[in-house]
Amino acid sequence: MDLRQSLAMPSLFKPGACSMSELRTNYENCTGCELQHSRTRVVMWDGPDRCDLMVVGQSPGANEDQQGTPFVGKAGKRLDAVLGLVSLPRGRIHLTNAVWCRYTDGRKNLTPSPDHISACKFRLEQEIALVDPTHIVCVGREAMHAVLGVPLTSPVGKERAKGWRTLIIGGKPRKTMVSWHPAYELRESQKGNLVINHQMASDWRDIALQVPHLRS
Ligand code: URA
Repeated sequence: MDLRQSLAMPSLFKPGACSMSELRTNYENCTGCELQHSRTRVVMWDGPDRCDLMVVGQSPGANEDQQGTPFVGKAGKRLDAVLGLVSLPRGRIHLTNAVWCRYTDGRKNLTPSPDHISACKFRLEQEIALVDPTHIVCVGREAMHAVLGVPLTSPVGKERAKGWRTLIIGGKPRKTMVSWHPAYELRESQKGNLVINHQMASDWRDIALQVPHLRS
């Protein structure tokens, strides 16, 4: 288990230790934690292997677990909508999760525990070094915890309000920020609270400005 709080803290990680296809091979039958028993398959990334913009979510839900692709369920549709709003084609972005396997009680999706996140951290660090993004967006609490080492109890809104921060991750400086998870935005919008919707749109307008070469 990796006891470092944050991926930005020093590690023995050697960038270039493997390729994306080796990363796939190394993790497709992962037995690194108990989620090996609840998943149908390991859900890896979607998008280019090398990319300036990486989005890190929480973990796959039922749809992702069935299809083997991150962000294809209701939250994914919400993410697609905001990407459309700011003219960022989904296929130009590297989408991944803090945890690559679904956690479930057999019926509903469960939130991965700190141990699940910890077990997936070295893999996430390898992925970041290989994809080599200039910008990383952590959507939601678990991604924020995995990448920034912020306690899971810290309010997402507080970290979001800090904006971009430059961290050395996988051996290089990367501009990193926290935004709302699209599943949370959807729940709040359905309750009639559009504040999160507006803030998420504003975040994505800012993100798109950072990577103009990825826009359509
Ligand atoms: N929520 C996530 O955080 N990731 C997914 O892939 C799907 C839903």
